[in-house]
Amino acid sequence: MELLTSYTLPELRKRFEELGFETYRANQVLRWLYKRFEDDFQRMTDLPKEHRQAFGERFGVRALELLQKVPAEDSTKYVFKTRDGHLVETVLIRERDHLTLCVSSQIGCAVGCKFCATAKDGLLRNLTPAEIVDQYLQVQRNTPQRIRNLVFMGMGEPLANYEAVRKAVEIFVSPWGIELSKRRVSISTSGLIAQLRRMAQDPLMRELNLAVSINAPDQSLREALMPISKTNSLQDLLQVLVDFPYPSDRRIMLEYVLIKGVNDSKAQAQELSRLIAPHRRKFKVNLIPYNPDPALPYERPSLERVYAFQEVLRSHGVSTFVRLSKGVEVFGACGQLRSKRALVVK
Ligand code: SAH
Ligand code: SF4
Repeated sequence: MELLTSYTLPELRKRFEELGFETYRANQVLRWLYKRFEDDFQRMTDLPKEHRQAFGERFGVRALELLQKVPAEDSTKYVFKTRDGHLVETVLIRERDHLTLCVSSQIGCAVGCKFCATAKDGLLRNLTPAEIVDQYLQVQRNTPQRIRNLVFMGMGEPLANYEAVRKAVEIFVSPWGIELSKRRVSISTSGLIAQLRRMAQDPLMRELNLAVSINAPDQSLREALMPISKTNSLQDLLQVLVDFPYPSDRRIMLEYVLIKGVNDSKAQAQELSRLIAPHRRKFKVNLIPYNPDPALPYERPSLERVYAFQEVLRSHGVSTFVRLSKGVEVFGACGQLRSKRALVVK
């Protein structure tokens, strides 16, 4: 069955025309879907009965099946199943004054970062635009308050699934779609240079928040932790980011996962500062204390060590904040999302 969420408004208008329906019906249907989160054609009351019937027979609304909701203190993990039987995880995070949804863009991930649980499965497949958008729609239907912030920080490398992520973003930010502010949608990437260049040329994508996972202050450690760095070197990556046409009142976020005894020393903080300080108006640093995983040998440093690291960056004038991950207890925190584990929980 065709899924409604596979189409942008112009595409759906064209599709309706092909099928012999009036094109404005596409505007009506998407209004129900994206403004009122309605998923049943029978309740789209401004459509004639025959249209409701015909659309219902031809189009599906849900790309995913919700299997499980795992609540924790300040986050809830949603486990979905795709039509071909894969598991997808999405995390709703309650921040002080708003909700943030962390969506997945792939099942597994091919980038292979040594410290990341998602990498353990390798890449099983890309998610489709409909599967990305449906994560939002289903969680929003479950949530009384509007979800206004979205981050591509779940399973997968969003820029390795560029076309699908781009189309989902179009649905997330367009006036006819979910209409989130571009400033409230973030893409987190391990730093695929060719794709960052593509993003820089793309008016839709370059206005989103950009977060880049740095994780090491030098090439050799970065290569050891993130094999992708062999072909996407730290130096080239920084150059692409320095050249990135980013709004001058905003800063690109560099993410740095602090792992005990691996990349958390003061000397490494000095080295990172030397790298970033010359561009301190372009970047801010987000320090993420590592979330341990039973399948991986790494540990989280003490908070004291985290703050000492932060202090070094601050003393070089680099704007830095610490993110204490929410959802650790439900395996819903960064780098802990893993489709195969969800099977065990179930
Ligand atoms: N693939 C993208 C987005 C998903 S990972 C990327 O790598 O940026 C989102 C963030 O979680 C990245 O900054 C990654 O470095 C971090 N991360 C991965 N595993 C983690 C773990 N176990 N604890 C804390 N952060 C982790
Ligand atoms: Fe993939 Fe990101 Fe995990 Fe690296 S940290 S393996 S890029 S999901």
